[in-house]
Amino acid sequence: MKQKITVLGSTGSIGTNTLDVVARHPEQYEIFALSASTQVDLMLRQCVQFKPRFAVMASAPHAQQLAEGIKQNGLVTQVLQAQDALEVIASHPDVDAVMAAIVGAAGLAPCLAAAKAGKRLMLANKEALVVGGALFMDTVKRHGATLLPIDSEHSAIFQCLPEDSSTWADRVDSLLLTASGGPFRQRDPATLSQITPEQACAHPNFSMGRKISVDSATMMNKALEVIEARWLFDIAPEKIKVVIHPQQIVHSMVQFKDSSVLAQLGTPDMRVPIACGLAWPERIASGTPVLDFARLAALTFEVADAQRFPGLHLSWQALRAPEGTTTVLNAANEVAVAAFLDRRLSFDRIHAVNLQTLESVQPGPVSTLEDLMALDARARERAGVIAQQWVC
Ligand code: NAD
Ligand code: MG
Repeated sequence: MKQKITVLGSTGSIGTNTLDVVARHPEQYEIFALSASTQVDLMLRQCVQFKPRFAVMASAPHAQQLAEGIKQNGLVTQVLQAQDALEVIASHPDVDAVMAAIVGAAGLAPCLAAAKAGKRLMLANKEALVVGGALFMDTVKRHGATLLPIDSEHSAIFQCLPEDSSTWADRVDSLLLTASGGPFRQRDPATLSQITPEQACAHPNFSMGRKISVDSATMMNKALEVIEARWLFDIAPEKIKVVIHPQQIVHSMVQFKDSSVLAQLGTPDMRVPIACGLAWPERIASGTPVLDFARLAALTFEVADAQRFPGLHLSWQALRAPEGTTTVLNAANEVAVAAFLDRRLSFDRIHAVNLQTLESVQPGPVSTLEDLMALDARARERAGVIAQQWVC
């Protein structure tokens, strides 16, 4: 039987890479539903190629445009646009697996819907765990969902850990997340204010969405990944460490109690963790060239410079603070990055917005999705006001 897959965020970098891997295995997978925000043309091409039962667009005008294209191409795909349409395609009884590749807190509700329906959930959307880690993991456990990390670092750790999760705590000393250091690893910190969105989005090794590209440049991406690892692997924050590895060949490592370190290596290409998540515990071809050890010059490692990357340490601080603080941090960062990409905020002030928002928003109780979304909205509003004072 073919596995039926829903791809949330199918027009993005992770979404298109997922479809690339799926297209290599038509005998094993079929696309049940696709979703996107605004890219109607690409979504139509994906519908023509994969013939999903459902396609979801974020707004009514985009949905209408897509529906016209679907009709002209004689397809039977049903176009949906409604507040809960993402939840519908994430939890539909006919779906086997969901790729969560929406960017930002907007991905949390459909992730929870997939988890509640006990699906196999491939998680690229790290912000969903940063916003609602405790609720998310509790929902996964209570409903017997299978959570598979797609973020390359977390996929690496997942592959290095013993399969019986009840034995991790006794054996593991620490998780070592590797980080590329982004495009400004060696830049003079005094010049960070002049960085443009184009420079920040030109990542040395990966072509990624704009938000994660900026996060990689500030290293807030690694901060979010520390929080993601805390929840995915149920590990104390102080046991999670970050090491800069510019070549991105070692995707992350696990250090065990006896000082043995296991690492997962590979060509830096997101199709590897995507293929791993799709097929786990089996393995399928990903289309990625294998590592050529004859040509690998050197693998180097260094510590992260706290002055250049002040945001990195916010992760441990937020994890030590009351629950909900990571929700505030994520919201502030989404607002600050959007302002930077819109050229309203300078690059070096992204951290200032995050810090000031954390200092001025006190999280209340956060036991439900509604609590989390209300806190997210409150933090966004505050971060918007803070960012406004530095309009450039
Ligand atoms: P992207 O910007 O390329 O794509 C995002 C997708 O989500 C698009 O299809 C877009 O239409 C959709 N989307 C955006 N906002 C939406 C909204 N409000 N409602 C519904 N749909 C919406 O981003 P990406 O680089 O593919 O990243 C996706 C997620 O995967 C992020 O959380 C990112 O941190 C994570 N991730 C990405 C990479 C990578 O290499 N790109 C690696 C690891 C993790
Ligand atoms: Mg990553």
